[in-house]
Amino acid sequence: MSLRDRAASTPGLAPAIGVLALQGDSAEHRQLLERLGADVVEVRLPKDLEQVEAIVVPGGESTTLSLLLQSAGLFEPLASRLAEGLPALGTCAGMILLAEEVLDGRPDQRSLGAIELSVRRNAFGRQLQSFEADLDVAGIEGGPMHAVFIRAPLVERAGEGVEVLARVERAGVEQPVVCRQGNVIVAAFHPELSGDGRLHELLLEKVGARAGR
Ligand code: GLN
Repeated sequence: MSLRDRAASTPGLAPAIGVLALQGDSAEHRQLLERLGADVVEVRLPKDLEQVEAIVVPGGESTTLSLLLQSAGLFEPLASRLAEGLPALGTCAGMILLAEEVLDGRPDQRSLGAIELSVRRNAFGRQLQSFEADLDVAGIEGGPMHAVFIRAPLVERAGEGVEVLARVERAGVEQPVVCRQGNVIVAAFHPELSGDGRLHELLLEKVGARAGR
């Protein structure tokens, strides 16, 4: 029996949470999830993906992550697990990878199409224009989230099924920066860098719900 089946059928055995660990800040996500008591599997190969009940797609460089997902043979298996409802949290580059459409991507860049968003890369400005903000996130208690934006993607279109959970005001315009559709949550910033685990907790709650706990 696979670990995944075992986790689903054995009450009390924590479901494994995957962190895509091909490139980017997977270590920070791992630390945050472990602090929340999760059992973490670093996903580098298709066999790692088989063990997990949810996945975090970290920040990093979406063009590189797209290439590495394909060379590792992970792109198709991950896309199909997501299409089956695998709960996912994507931050920054992870948001880009989970989106339906990527604007200003590399011509060969692919995305997983797990959330009905069109996102434009690096649209909040380059490294020097990175910024921080305190955000109220719908459904999250305990005060604002401190958000660190680094060459963040901008949401240009959100489909009807997408809920916008938080916005940030830039140049007088309210821009969506936390979105959710079904089991997929994305943030344009890096909660793993400020050590705020409240979006990760939402992901863990989804897994609990799926395992019938
Ligand atoms: N600009 C990066 C990209 O396109 C994302 C940056 C990040 O994850 N901090 O992938």
